Amino acid sequence: MNYENEHIANTYQRLPVNVLNGNGAILHDINGKRYIDMMGGYGVAILGYGNKKIKEAVCRQFDTIPIAHASEYTAAREEFIKNLTGIVPAGLDKFYLGNTGAEAIEAAIKVVIKSSKNHKIIAMTNSYHGKTAGALSITYSEKYRQSFGDLLIKNVEFIRYNNMEDLDKIRKDNDISAVFFEPVQGEGGINIPDREYVRELRQITEDKGIILVADEIQSGLGRTGKMWAHEHFGIKPDIITIGKGIGGGIPLSVTAGKPEFMDNLAKGEQSSTTGGNPIAMASGSAVIEQLTDDLINEVAVKGELFRNTLKEYLADSRIVKEIRGLGLMDAIELRVKFLPVFMDIINRGVLPLYSGINILRMLPPYVISNAEITEAAKIMSEGIKSYNKEVAP
Ligand SMILES: *Cc1c(COP(=O)(O)O)cnc(C)c1O
Repeated sequence: MNYENEHIANTYQRLPVNVLNGNGAILHDINGKRYIDMMGGYGVAILGYGNKKIKEAVCRQFDTIPIAHASEYTAAREEFIKNLTGIVPAGLDKFYLGNTGAEAIEAAIKVVIKSSKNHKIIAMTNSYHGKTAGALSITYSEKYRQSFGDLLIKNVEFIRYNNMEDLDKIRKDNDISAVFFEPVQGEGGINIPDREYVRELRQITEDKGIILVADEIQSGLGRTGKMWAHEHFGIKPDIITIGKGIGGGIPLSVTAGKPEFMDNLAKGEQSSTTGGNPIAMASGSAVIEQLTDDLINEVAVKGELFRNTLKEYLADSRIVKEIRGLGLMDAIELRVKFLPVFMDIINRGVLPLYSGINILRMLPPYVISNAEITEAAKIMSEGIKSYNKEVAP
């Protein structure tokens, strides 16, 4: 740990966990300590650790052709985009392949700029879209943005997420090219908007010819109990961004949009040396092939079980403000700062995530068992209850 601390740029909140190996939703550290992993490598490990089909696909691809630039054709890429076409919303079947979520957002921003004569991009309060310059420009947190004003794109306006009144700003403004939003906000603390709000947002943008970009990097691929979180609201965006779990651990992201928009990017206007590389393609195909309706239904059921178990154990807990979530995208909002509680829970053998200053967040692998879910809920509740005394009765 010390060698890393000395040589890795100090940009991450580090956890006191040195991971050795994993299986399903269980991790072991180098000291043999067992963790139920509710973090899943920040939502990447959707199929858990040690997935045999991903391993076989990657190894097979390595033995045939592991490296090929996007200018070359490969069977692995063709297979991946055929698989992808099977899961994206109908008509959003033109793709840009990148490596990280932020890169998928950068590509979406370029598509928007090339597709509209208007200049303003609308983003939402508490949004998170990544930390490269373009993505950072539409990310809300002042903490992430404040030192980099010179880097940010101009003409971005933030409106309040899930606020009907603020939709008037879109109604009245005739210089808007696109709206970027997360169908369920992740980094912002697992915020689920109202159905009416999302439908109204879609209606206005459609009426005004404004491109609606749904960032599904965290909420997509079955995470909320449907393939895409926007399906919960009965709407269809014009562009979606996909990342995190899509590559099965190999860096991979996708910008998927209507051809009428995606085709506005000209040769050379966006590229990446390793975007769409064969290993990521093979791994991505193995992920999509395993994202069955049954598995996604299980995500919905397991999420329900997790939240209900938490609510049961934490019914009389003073420091819990709210337990909320959709599928396996869940949060416990506390009335105190999360950090001591979070560290206490890690100590007890559950690895969660966090948001803001008072929220515990969970993005476990979909393959977590019911027994592991109830065990994790129990351990987390015991950790949380031990801090009850911090809030006056
Ligand atoms: C994680 C995330 C990103 C950024 O993805 P990176 O791979 O970290 O660049 C963008 N949008 C959302 C909603 C995310 O959760």
